[in-house]
Amino acid sequence: MKRIYLDNNATTQVDEQVLEAMRPWQAEMYGNPSSLHFMGDEARTAVERARATLAGLIGARPEEIIFTASGTEGNNLCINGVVEACALGNFPSPWPGGGWEGVGLQEEHQPQSHPPCQTYPFPLGKKEDSSSSKIAEAPARHYKDRGHIITSAIEHPSVLETCRALEKLSFEVTYLPVDTEGFVSPADLETALQPDTILVSIMHANNEIGTIQPLAELSAVIRRFRKEKQGAVSPTPYALRPTPFFHSDLVQSFTKLPCHVDDLGLDLATFSAHKFHGPKGAGFIYKRKGVALTPQTHGGSHEQNLRAGTLNVPGIVGMATAAEINAFGLAPSPARGEGWGGVGEVGWERWDGRGGVGEVGLSREELPSHHLRELQEYLLRELLTIPSSHLNGPADLARRLPNNINVSFAGIEGEHLLLALSAHGICVSTGSACSATSSEISPVLRAISCPPEYIESNIRVSTSKHTTLDELNTFLSVFRNILALQRHN
Ligand code: PLP
Repeated sequence: MKRIYLDNNATTQVDEQVLEAMRPWQAEMYGNPSSLHFMGDEARTAVERARATLAGLIGARPEEIIFTASGTEGNNLCINGVVEACALGNFPSPWPGGGWEGVGLQEEHQPQSHPPCQTYPFPLGKKEDSSSSKIAEAPARHYKDRGHIITSAIEHPSVLETCRALEKLSFEVTYLPVDTEGFVSPADLETALQPDTILVSIMHANNEIGTIQPLAELSAVIRRFRKEKQGAVSPTPYALRPTPFFHSDLVQSFTKLPCHVDDLGLDLATFSAHKFHGPKGAGFIYKRKGVALTPQTHGGSHEQNLRAGTLNVPGIVGMATAAEINAFGLAPSPARGEGWGGVGEVGWERWDGRGGVGEVGLSREELPSHHLRELQEYLLRELLTIPSSHLNGPADLARRLPNNINVSFAGIEGEHLLLALSAHGICVSTGSACSATSSEISPVLRAISCPPEYIESNIRVSTSKHTTLDELNTFLSVFRNILALQRHN
C-alpha cells in the first residue's frame, strides 16, 4: 500500500542530507563536546558551528541560542525559567551597578553587563508618579501572589500545562481568549497586562488550525507597557523589573514563515527540529541577552549553566542542517535591510536577503512555501465543495500556516475519518498529535467557538515540501468515498 503522509504538523520526514550530516557524529566522531581531548574539540566545534547557523537564521547572536531536547522542554524552560528567575528572587539586574531604573532591555542587542544577582525584595524606585498610569494605581502585591503570566487559550499543551502547574504554585495566569479564527487581540493583551506581569507567552502559529498571531503588534503593546512602567512610582518590586518578557512558541512556524526575533519583537522563543525535517530529540531556545532565566535541569555547566546535560551532537548537527535547507529564502539578510518580510509578513511577498528572491536567482514560484500555498489553495477549494463542510481557522490563507488545513464535516466523527483514511495508507490527524490518544474535544476548536455540529468532526491535513498534487488527488478521491459511505450508513 502506498503511503500518503499528510500529518506534517505532527512531525516530518528527516531530509537525506540531514541523515548524512548526522552519521559521522554517531559513528566515528562521537566525542563528548565537554571533553578536553581532540575528539571533544571536534564535537565542540561542530556544536558551535550549528549554533552560529541557527542564530544567523533567526537574526540572533550565537550566545543567545541554548540547545534542548524538544519543543516541550524549550517551552518549559522558557516559562518556568523566567518565572522562577523573576518571581523567586534569582534575578540579575541587567544594568551596570544593579538597580532597575532606566530600563532599556528592548533596545535590541545593547551590550549589558551583569552584576551579581539581587535577591528579593528589590529596592523600590524613586521616580515621580505618572498619575494616569495603571502601574501607579495598582495595589501592592504580597509576595505570596507570586506574579502574573499571560498566555492564550489555544497554546500547545507544553505551554498550557506549564501555566496550569504554575497556577497550582499560586501564580496568576490569564488565558487570553481568541476570536473565531483563533486570533489574539492586541487590545485584550493591553487590558490584561498588570504591573506584576512577568511573562507573556503567545505562539506564532497554531499547530491545529494554523492561525498566525500578530506577534509584532503584540510585542509593541508589551514594549509600550514596559516604557510606562519605567516612568511610574513603583508600589511593588515587580514594577521595577524590566518585565514582562515576551516569549513565543515558534515550533510550527520556523522554516515556514520569516522568524526574525527582532522583527517579531521577542525576548524568548522555542524551536523543535523534528517539525522542519530534522531529527527528533533536538531543539533549541532563543534567549535575548539580558533576559533572566533560571535553569530547570541541574548538573553540569553546559549551555552557559542554563541547561545541564551532555549535548546531542548528531541531533544538533542534523537540526542546523535541516534549518539551513528548509529556512531557505526565509533567512534575514546579513545586512538586515530593505524588503525583509518579518513582522507578521506571511509568504513570499517581501522576501529578500540571503538565499531569498533576487540574490540567488530563485523565482517566487520556486520557493518552497509557494508550493505549500498552491497545494493549500487547491485542497481547500476541493474540500469546501463537499456538502456540510466547515473550515476551522483563518479563511484568509495569508494569515494561516502555508501547510495547514483543518476542516470539519457535520455528522461524522473526525476519528472515524482518520481511521478510515489510515486503512487506505493515508495519514491525517484530528488535531494536535499530542492529544491523538485522548478522546477529548480539541480545546482549540472550543476556544474558537466551533459550532457544535462541527466540533467533533474535524480533520487536519498538513502538507510538506514532499507532498504532490497526485497525492492530494488520491486523498480527495478516497476521502469522498469514505464520506459517501459513512453518510449513507
Ligand atoms: N509547540 C507546538 C506548537 C507544537 O506543535 C509542538 C508539537 O506538536 C510542540 C510545541 C512540542 O514540540 P516537541 O514535539 O518537540 O516536544
